[in-house]
Amino acid sequence: MTQMEYAKPRSFKELDGIFESAKGPLRFIAGGTNVVPDLRAGTISPRLLVDLSGLKEMAYIREVKGEIAIGALSTISDILASRVICDKAPLLFQAARHLGSPLTRNRATIGGNLADASPAADTAPSLLAMGAMVHTRRRRGKERTIPLDRFFLGPNKTILAKDEIITRITFAKPKDPSRGRYLKLGLRNAMTISVASLAVSLEPEGSSFGGARIGLGAVAPTPVRAYLVEKKLASGAMDPKNIEACAQLITKEISPISDIRASADYRKRVVAVLFQRAIQAAVNGGTP
Ligand SMILES: Cc1cc2nc3c(=O)[nH]c(=O)nc-3n(C[C@H](O)[C@H](O)[C@H](O)COP(=O)(O)OP(=O)(O)OC[C@H]3O[C@@H](n4cnc5c(N)ncnc54)[C@H](O)[C@@H]3O)c2cc1C
Repeated sequence: MTQMEYAKPRSFKELDGIFESAKGPLRFIAGGTNVVPDLRAGTISPRLLVDLSGLKEMAYIREVKGEIAIGALSTISDILASRVICDKAPLLFQAARHLGSPLTRNRATIGGNLADASPAADTAPSLLAMGAMVHTRRRRGKERTIPLDRFFLGPNKTILAKDEIITRITFAKPKDPSRGRYLKLGLRNAMTISVASLAVSLEPEGSSFGGARIGLGAVAPTPVRAYLVEKKLASGAMDPKNIEACAQLITKEISPISDIRASADYRKRVVAVLFQRAIQAAVNGGTP
């Protein structure tokens, strides 16, 4: 059995040095809530484990010039404790509240939640609905910015290169934060993986839906935006007929699988219901 080595860089410079001298497949670890169970189960066996938790410059949540920036090492508990997120991006707050238990949330990072690329990742639908961007860094300081809707390639697959880390996630401060809703259905009410999840962010314009964005989880190989539904919502009136037609359309825009949690058909039905509840709550206020 090959022995696994461990490195914990304290700066990007140290991280670059690790990349230069690495001799085999490496794996990043942040909070470890996915990586540690995978190591224990033997489903991954990296030659080198690179612990990102020493890169303290990646743990912050800020609002700068109308944009909210979240360092990749921010934990889900940090997000829940953040005044900025609670007041200005409650859609992400709602999602964070649904992720795991307090113990898991204390370790789980937002960067890890996205990089793990589970179709059911709880932060993804809300971040998609807010038009989030993923900022990354490769060796020698090469950076790029990837729209979140182009970041996921498949279950547990992302666009990230082997030597590329997420440094932060950004999105424009929602114009009307009270118009966002995240709904998750699991097999129980708490500490559960999504059967289906949906985030809606509305920016009503007069009597129409205007800038509506919808993110979905656990109903396709990756978290996805419902672009066809967004277009139809925006082109119709803000009335029950349009909402009903969009609820029908959303079942056609998704491609869920049947698994131990639910059948594909059940997921389609559930998403239509979640969609209607979320839209109505976002329009009228209150909890669905
Ligand atoms: C008991 C339990 C309950 C859970 N419940 C939920 C739930 O309800 N909803 C949910 O969405 N998830 C859930 N999870 C999954 C997990 O907690 C989250 O996905 C978490 O956000 C992962 O973050 P982490 O920092 O622990 O990632 P890690 O385990 O450290 O890493 C996960 C993956 O991301 C990579 N990675 C981490 N950080 C970076 C980075 N900055 N740049 C590039 N790659 C990186 C790692 O290499 C690895 O592939 C649960 C896990 C457990 C153990």
